[in-house]
Order: sequence, then structure tokens, then C-alpha cells
Amino acid sequence: MRADLNRNHLVPLTGIRNLGILAHVDAGKTTVTERILYLTGTVHRRGEVHEGTTVTDFDPLERDRGITIFAAAVSCLWDGHRINLIDTPGHVDFSDEVERSLRVLDGAVAVFDAVAGVEPQSESVWRQADRYGVPRIAFVNKMDRAGADLDTAVESIRERLRVIPLVVQLPIGREDGFTGVVDLLRVRALVWETGRDTVTEGPVPDALADEARRRRRLLEENVAELHPAALEEFCALPEISAPTLAAALRDLTLRGEAVVVLCGSAYRNRGVEPLLDAIVAYLPAPSDVPPVRAAGDDPGQERPADPAAPFAGLVFKVHAAPTGRLTYLRVYSGTIRRGDVVLDAGARRTERIGRILRVQADRHTETDHATAGDIVAVAGIKAARAGATLCAPGAPLVLEPPVTASPVVSVA
Ligand code: GDP
Repeated sequence: MRADLNRNHLVPLTGIRNLGILAHVDAGKTTVTERILYLTGTVHRRGEVHEGTTVTDFDPLERDRGITIFAAAVSCLWDGHRINLIDTPGHVDFSDEVERSLRVLDGAVAVFDAVAGVEPQSESVWRQADRYGVPRIAFVNKMDRAGADLDTAVESIRERLRVIPLVVQLPIGREDGFTGVVDLLRVRALVWETGRDTVTEGPVPDALADEARRRRRLLEENVAELHPAALEEFCALPEISAPTLAAALRDLTLRGEAVVVLCGSAYRNRGVEPLLDAIVAYLPAPSDVPPVRAAGDDPGQERPADPAAPFAGLVFKVHAAPTGRLTYLRVYSGTIRRGDVVLDAGARRTERIGRILRVQADRHTETDHATAGDIVAVAGIKAARAGATLCAPGAPLVLEPPVTASPVVSVA
């Protein structure tokens, strides 16, 4: 299953998912991230959060505090798609950094605790994501905990976030006995055996058959109500297939009119493969989101997500690593190669692109170029700060108003 990360550049634009995981502290963001990296073959071992050795928390300060303070971007492959995870801090004190990471991602997974439901920080991050128009799906985690209840968590999503939840799974078993989910689109059971990582697919257990049928119909009705074109299509079909329903769910997600809800237990490694499938199915590629626009006094200027367009990218993170300064960059348009001279448009200063790296947690893989839609770390940039726009010198544009205080993070 281990992904060949050197083939990353072969993923087409439509196969990229730049996403963030949004959560209240302790809801399980780190564990979900860890499981994603494990399942996609990015890390070999299963890190345990309580050991302080998980992959996204590689900064010693983060490890000490036990909360995710500094954003890190991690790249992994799933089913021919490249998923770039942009870590968004969950702690409310760091909301400036949340805003910057929200700026560079195209979609998000909101993780909730199945006992606590929507908590204050998830609500505030959700509102920030609303402002940036970030399409989201929801993962109700910790289904194995005493008191976990999907329906109650879903009601808190509806009430507190004022969004229409579309539940696409039915849990199999409760609390300690939570063993898997019924995929309501395909009406199939997905079960994880204790102590094993692999999922077994099979028919829906008899005891849940009626409930699964009822919930499938409810999902179809809710989708049809929200989506007139889907309603027409549904009416013309003898049976609503999983791909038809999935296409309508994707439309609703991209328009921000509803949120697809999945459930699982990341800690027990249950439900994370369907979450990866849902990320690919419902969240947007860079080509699905509107072209990026210039800020300030030139708001009309746009850049399409086109590798052949003039280069423009936004610096969203600067790390002073022991091996040198690493500048995390979201490339919006064009292509960069090692040795290219680019313009820091706000500072009116040129910079030279050094090595271009794909970040897999605490490791890096060099790539010869980065194109529109990519998230990469670039070595050799001397002065550009978080928030700076780098662009082709002949086609300047500023994506964010200049920032005054953007600290360079030191990693001992
Ligand atoms: P974060 O603060 O959102 O990054 O949350 P963590 O991933 O660090 O998880 C917080 C705590 O909840 C840790 O002790 C995890 O082991 C635990 N945890 C995470 N996922 C689950 C789950 O699915 N079930 C249970 N019972 N505990 C979980």
C-alpha cells in the first residue's frame, strides 16, 4: 500500500485535494491525521498521540503542549489522488494562523466528538470557514466512547452550525461494540475487526436492514429537496444509484448548501478509509474553486488554476528548520522550477526558488517543479514572510494585504 511519492507530480489538477482538518481541541484531529497518513502509506508505524510522537506534531513545542500550534502541510496519496493536509490549529488563541491556513485550502473535514457534539472552538472555526466559503464534510469521531450518539451529534451540527447535515452512514453497534458503518449510498456494511486494520465489506446485518432502507430514503428525500436538478434526475430513474446520489451530494457540498456527515473512531482505526473516499468524492479540486483574486486596490485581477498562466502563489508558513529556511507555498497559477526568479509583490523584492519539496510530515521529497494547485515547501527564499505573494516578475499581483507581524517559527 505504500505510496510512491516520487510519482506525485503525475497527479492531474482534478486529482488534488488541498484540505484542512478543523476541530475543537481534543476532538481527535491529530489522531484522524495520523490514521490518514498511516492508511495512505505515508508513515509506517501507528503513532499514538499519548506518546507525543505523532507525525503532525513534530514540533517540540507542540509536543510539549500537547496541542497543535503551528501549521504543517503534509502530502499523501489515496486512490490516485494527492491529498495535501494543511494543519489548522484548533486552539482558539491561534485564530490568526487558522485564518491563514483557511485561505490556502480548498476544502475541509470538520471533526467532532461523538459525545460532546459541536463545541465552542469548532463553532468559531466553522464560522471562519464560512467566511472563506470553504466546502466541508463532517466526521463524527469517538463513536466508541460511552455516551457516543450519532443522532445527537448530528442535531448539534444542525442547531449550532445552522447547516443541513446529510448523514451518509449508519453506525453498526454502540460505544464499545461499535464495529463499523453501513454505507447508505451503496447500502453495504463496512466492518473493522478488532486488532485488524483492514475493512471487510458485506451485506447489511439483518437487524439494521429496515433502518438502513429508511435512512437511505430519507437521504434521497433531503437531497431532492435541496437540489432541483437531482430531483428531476431521481424522478426519471427506476432506482437512485450510489454514483447519482454521490454526484448530487458533491454539488451540494461545493455550493455550501449542506454538509455530508460520516462517523467512526479514528483511535480504533474505524471509518477512516470511508472518510478518505469521501474527501476524494465530495471535496473540491483546485480547478473546482473560483480563480484567486488580487487584494486591495486591484480587486478585479484574477488568476486561473492553470499551469500555463503566469505564476502566483501565497506564502502561508515559514519554518526555520535546522537545514535552513523552508517557505510553505500554495501555488495558485503557473509553474515554478528550481532556479526561477520570482517577485515578492508586496515587498517589491525578488527571490530565487531553491529546492522544491513535498512535505510528508517530518520528511521531504524533492520535486523538479510545482504547478497551479500544488502545496509545496521551497528552500532558498530569503525574506518572504507568511502572507507574502510570490509571482512572476512580469505579471505582479498581491493576493493578501501586506502583513506586519508574521513570526518565523524556530525548530530546534
Ligand atoms: P486533537 O486535540 O483534536 O488533535 O485530538 P487528539 O487526536 O490529540 O485526541 C485527543 C484524545 O482523544 C487522545 O487521547 C486520543 O487518543 C483520543 N481519541 C482520539 N480519537 C479517539 C476515538 O476515536 N475514540 C476514543 N475513545 N478516543 C479517541
